[in-house]
Amino acid sequence: MDVETKLNQFREISEKISAYRLALTTLNWDSSTIAPKKGASYRNKMAALLSGELFSIETSPEFIALIDNLSAETLDDITTREVREIKKNLDKSRYIPKEVFIEYAQLTRDAENVWEAARDHEDYESFKPYLKKLIDMTKKVVSYRKDDRPVYEQLIDDFETGITIADYDVFFNKLKAEIVPFLHKIISKKIEQPAWLRQNVSIEQQRQVVEVLMEYLNYDKGSGYIGESAHPFSSHFSVHDNRVTVRYLEDMFTSSIFALIHEVGHATYNGQVDEAYQGRAIADSMTYGMHESQSRLYENMLGRSKAFWSSIYPKVQAIVNNLKDISLDDFILGVNHVELSLIRIEADELTYPLHIMIRYEIEQGLFNGTLDVEGLDKVWSDKYEEYLGIRPPHNGLGILQDIHWSGGAFGYFPTYALGSAYSAQWMSAMRKEIDVDQCLKNNDFKSVNDWLKNNVHRHGGVYQPNELLLSVTGEPFNPQYYIEYLKQKYSQLFEVSE
Ligand code: ZN
Repeated sequence: MDVETKLNQFREISEKISAYRLALTTLNWDSSTIAPKKGASYRNKMAALLSGELFSIETSPEFIALIDNLSAETLDDITTREVREIKKNLDKSRYIPKEVFIEYAQLTRDAENVWEAARDHEDYESFKPYLKKLIDMTKKVVSYRKDDRPVYEQLIDDFETGITIADYDVFFNKLKAEIVPFLHKIISKKIEQPAWLRQNVSIEQQRQVVEVLMEYLNYDKGSGYIGESAHPFSSHFSVHDNRVTVRYLEDMFTSSIFALIHEVGHATYNGQVDEAYQGRAIADSMTYGMHESQSRLYENMLGRSKAFWSSIYPKVQAIVNNLKDISLDDFILGVNHVELSLIRIEADELTYPLHIMIRYEIEQGLFNGTLDVEGLDKVWSDKYEEYLGIRPPHNGLGILQDIHWSGGAFGYFPTYALGSAYSAQWMSAMRKEIDVDQCLKNNDFKSVNDWLKNNVHRHGGVYQPNELLLSVTGEPFNPQYYIEYLKQKYSQLFEVSE
């Protein structure tokens, strides 16, 4: 078979895979937003059937042979990377015996139910044996790969290609040395949370604010949609169809504002990928950290800045009665309020990476054998006390708060902090080329989107994070940008020394 014929076959199967993915994405979106609860069981059954079909296509001997074959051919750069990406994922799963795979899938389903009950009852002891099984089973599943690196090193690489434990160690050690003492300087000022942050704002008013933001961010209704769900998320259907959801809480109106900005950051990334990549694995194979770098750049670096709000704040004041007497400066101080808190997803921008650092240190210990599930809840609480100065009153607000481990997602957490750190490096590069603050003040968000499109978005998942950072910013990942960004921003806002 000549290369042309192989490539044609490859494209044909890839397109079929894309069709199944689109169908499953649509089902997922539907069931997380508007689908009636009573239809769930039939819907889930049909979705499982489609997933099974997709799995059969992706792991068919025909497709595997084709990928192995194409890996040895000389192809254009983009196709080479596309084939490499698919082969990398295949190599992780192809040697796992089917019964082991099924056992693992069953364990994560069971563990999720056990975790949910354990969290509600604040009872770590009932989750502990499952956590042990999840770690053992993860080690077993990874052991089938033809890869000699330590298990946690491989898991880290699964979620963030090209990033190593050594990279994360440098990153988190810097955070620990520089951000922990800096945070305590701010906390010692005992700044109270402004009352207006928790005053009721009607859902109708919040919807109007979301409309203002959508227009300002250039999030186009022709290729986007804003739904509602219990946990905000964004969903990628195609280059011209990227939807987001928000959640409206009457006593926490800024929650819908920043969730919207965050999710539109994700949606804009997928929406600005080169149209030529549509339907190919590289269109949306960007890493977790890369995706998060765009949403957090939107939400925090732009969305919590004074320049961002300067042109639209009067419009928002006209909608939200509670903000009538709140100056723009006070609004910015309020949305950047720093507090020592126990729950990761409610944390402010400054304390957030410390929540991640704690999880990273624990995961690393669990996989290198220095920590065990026995007494891990105490280890968790001790670390919160050491870094954040607060101790969870019970395990529901401690070790049991996140769903990730119950799904076997070890190595995922650090990408959240890494994404924030990447975004500081993007921001610094963008500021060298365009006057970001002036664009925002001029209601010209398009220039920001254009810079992101030309430098980051259009490439989709073609390049690894470090390759793209190097070519756009002139250096691979450097955590110093993030440390400096945090210190500069918060020392100015709250008048403390760096
Ligand atoms: Zn996100």
